[in-house]
Amino acid sequence: MKENYVLNSIVEMKKPHPCGFNEWQITRLGADIKIKCCNCGRSIMMPRIEFNKKLKKVLKE
Ligand SMILES: [Zn+2]
Repeated sequence: MKENYVLNSIVEMKKPHPCGFNEWQITRLGADIKIKCCNCGRSIMMPRIEFNKKLKKVLKE
């Protein structure tokens, strides 16, 4: 997949957060990517390769 996201982009993942919301903000962009749930504010971090696999689409670049 083309990496068309930048820091602070809002993205949708293949699996929503357990809170039921599926909009995430990228808060850290490096070898690892940190995304924050836009609903409850929890953050999760994962390797970039895993993020690219789980990413569904970029909502706001
Ligand atoms: Zn959440």
